[in-house]
Amino acid sequence: MHELSIATAIVERAGELALAQGAEAAAAVTVRVGELSGVVPDALDFAFEVARQGTALAGARLVVEQVTAQAYCGPCREPFAVGMPPFFWCPRCDRPSQELRCGRELEIVAVEPGPPG
Ligand SMILES: [Zn+2]
Repeated sequence: MHELSIATAIVERAGELALAQGAEAAAAVTVRVGELSGVVPDALDFAFEVARQGTALAGARLVVEQVTAQAYCGPCREPFAVGMPPFFWCPRCDRPSQELRCGRELEIVAVEPGPPG
């Protein structure tokens, strides 16, 4: 399962970040997940429950911030949502654009220190 290896990596990294803040454990970890990252938030949630066991994140909550995938249209100077699966075609001027601005994120944005789980 793809999400389990990602959840394990998040747990490890968040544990290090909590430690760096002087905490023994984390109470919550917030991740930003792009629509095109290939990660299913529900599956990540489930994988996190498994991955956190016996770690500094045993009592931690996972907060997922979903990012809508957007491409930028040069002629319109506006971004547009590409959807999933992505369709790189500006709905305003009916022209193609491959300029993806966001949607591939998979990153930890915050770790809240907390007491050991
Ligand atoms: Zn356009």
